[in-house]
Amino acid sequence: MAGQSREQALAKAAFALMADFNVAPTPDHYELFFVYAAGNNPALSRTVETMIRERAPFTGPVLQDLCARFLIRERTAQTMEEVGSSISGMIDAVMSKLEKAGKDAGEYGRALSAVSGELGGNQSPAAVAKLIDKLVGATQAMETRAKSLETELQRSSAQVNELKNQLDTVRKESRLDPLTGLANRKAFDIELQAAIDDARETNTSVALMMCDIDHFKRFNDTWGHQTGDQVLRLVSGCLSENVKGRDTAARYGGEEFAVILRRTELTGAIKLASQIRSNVENKKLVKRSTGDILGTITISIGVAELGQNDTAEKLVQRADQCLYKAKNSGRNRVTAEDELISAINAA
Ligand code: GH3
Ligand code: MG
Ligand code: MG
Repeated sequence: MAGQSREQALAKAAFALMADFNVAPTPDHYELFFVYAAGNNPALSRTVETMIRERAPFTGPVLQDLCARFLIRERTAQTMEEVGSSISGMIDAVMSKLEKAGKDAGEYGRALSAVSGELGGNQSPAAVAKLIDKLVGATQAMETRAKSLETELQRSSAQVNELKNQLDTVRKESRLDPLTGLANRKAFDIELQAAIDDARETNTSVALMMCDIDHFKRFNDTWGHQTGDQVLRLVSGCLSENVKGRDTAARYGGEEFAVILRRTELTGAIKLASQIRSNVENKKLVKRSTGDILGTITISIGVAELGQNDTAEKLVQRADQCLYKAKNSGRNRVTAEDELISAINAA
């Protein structure tokens, strides 16, 4: 078959690449190179091609990172499809059982009314006994069918629950950024709109922080992309530590993060932003593979509060303007839209 020979060719190509680049033959690595050989994941192709061009070695941690970044989406899509077809198969099975149960109940009903009709006449005791036998027989048959239907339904409902759990996992994964584990951009957009709706309904406030790593390009150029990714995890770790409960920290884009603070006014948001900024600055950066000390990383943060006529877009725009103000006034600082910031910086 043509499909089979294409798969065989891809498998061969994947193994050849793994041998060329000294990649340990684990199932994950094989899957990664198979997907790369298939060529339908452009982001993976770009990353692997850059590595090959730059002769960057496929070390264990690098491969682990590539698998985390590129395989999760493939798997999510696959699981979604599997879950979808199991659910529709199960619904079909349950529907046909219910239809049959309906027919059985109809037959039982007809048997009952036939018996009750016959009982109306002047019957001999022997005839009545015969009728009662018929009745008992029909009732037992109905009971057996009802029992088997009940077992079947119980089994189906256990399967439905399992599928629900699988779907929940897939849904959660599809809202998370695989590198940092924070909410991804899509989840951020949904959450910001929900937070704004909540604020309008309850007459409370929403604050938004936009954070951007300072001179990150320079850091990547000096230490490499993989170490850069480690920094992204460090910054996201600081955000997660400081952002809890009804608030949401998200990876907004490459090296930009956003934090949505529900029912929070500007002063509170500035305080939290200052704390996050200082936490990041105080983290010691050590290169995992070599133990080299890489110095410090700093971030700049812009903070804005929802205004009366703000849309989500406008709020993001204003927090972004504050972020650029923070960058232009020297980086490693928090800038908000009013003068409260100077009071807090001075304290
Ligand atoms: P600034 O202080 O003005 O923000 O300077 P910058 O160098 O951080 O800003 P710029 O926007 O010029 O560069 C952002 C860099 O972030 C470019 C790219 O190398 C890096 N970057 C974006 N996404 C990722 C990622 O997923 N991983 C890594 N390692 N680097 C990333
Ligand atoms: Mg940036
Ligand atoms: Mg930056």
